[in-house]
Amino acid sequence: LASWVGFSNLPNQVHRKSVRRGFQFVAMVVGESGLGKSTLINTLFETKLYQPKSIPSPGADRGKTVQIESISAEIEENGVRLKLTVVDTPGFGDFVNNDESWKPIVDNIEARFDAYLEQENRVNRLKLVDNRVHACIYFIQPTGHSLKPIDIEFMKRLHTKVNLIPVIAKSDTMTDDEIKLFKQRILGDIAHHGIQIFVPPQYENEDEETIQENEEILSKVPFAVVGSDHIVQAPDGRQVRGRSYPWGVIEVDNEEHCDFVKLRQMLVRTHMEELREHTNDVLYENYRTDKLKAMGV
Ligand code: GDP
Ligand code: MG
Repeated sequence: LASWVGFSNLPNQVHRKSVRRGFQFVAMVVGESGLGKSTLINTLFETKLYQPKSIPSPGADRGKTVQIESISAEIEENGVRLKLTVVDTPGFGDFVNNDESWKPIVDNIEARFDAYLEQENRVNRLKLVDNRVHACIYFIQPTGHSLKPIDIEFMKRLHTKVNLIPVIAKSDTMTDDEIKLFKQRILGDIAHHGIQIFVPPQYENEDEETIQENEEILSKVPFAVVGSDHIVQAPDGRQVRGRSYPWGVIEVDNEEHCDFVKLRQMLVRTHMEELREHTNDVLYENYRTDKLKAMGV
């Protein structure tokens, strides 16, 4: 049973800096209700950020717009502090008319950029609070067909503002062959529409181990994930995080069973710093430049 998240395992240099500063990391989850967003966040961060809530029935009144909810938790691991914020977006895709579902989400991401820009413009810039969204996990319904118009629209609107990490939700509902085919279709759609998703950058002079690690992560995109916040018994008696079926047990932390481990590895271990850097150096910088231009500065 994995009892830790792994962020304190970052490469040494980054690690030491982070120990001093503590991390701030903001992850956003987007996708239709019931696709397992809250469960996956709990599975990822081993924290009960979300208490189980029943899924509202389709007729239930839950407003007419996408809500933005932000939850923060301090987690500590090997003396490294991480201030984790999860931004949830209930209501996305749940309405009769979802044409503008992406809009409150773009607004929220931009408001976070603005708040950062405002701090940068202050005289005292020593302690910047970084509440920008560093990663957006986008949940794709496990239909096996292809991306839906709402998926494409969302990703097109968001890909220049945030690191997009598409995942196939509830992949335990599909067979391995179906997943393989579905991944190809999704990647085909993404390429066809010119959508930029976050992929581990490849650098020239990296050591063999890192190159291989990155390639393995890359080969799993879009990650087929399974979430579970309960322990079940595997056929061999081990207690594992997973979901049990009459035909067997799907283990969340078993790479043979799903891509959860790879997603977590990328998000909190190998690429957390990359995600933060790319947000700052590229996504935020472009936003800032456009904004200043629009203001005629
Ligand atoms: P959200 O509305 O996207 O936040 O979805 P929840 O996390 O609340 O999950 C909705 C339902 O799906 C719950 O009954 C979960 O137990 C179940 N669920 C969550 N993740 C998975 C998964 O990976 N596979 C399966 N089969 N069910 C899941
Ligand atoms: Mg939820």
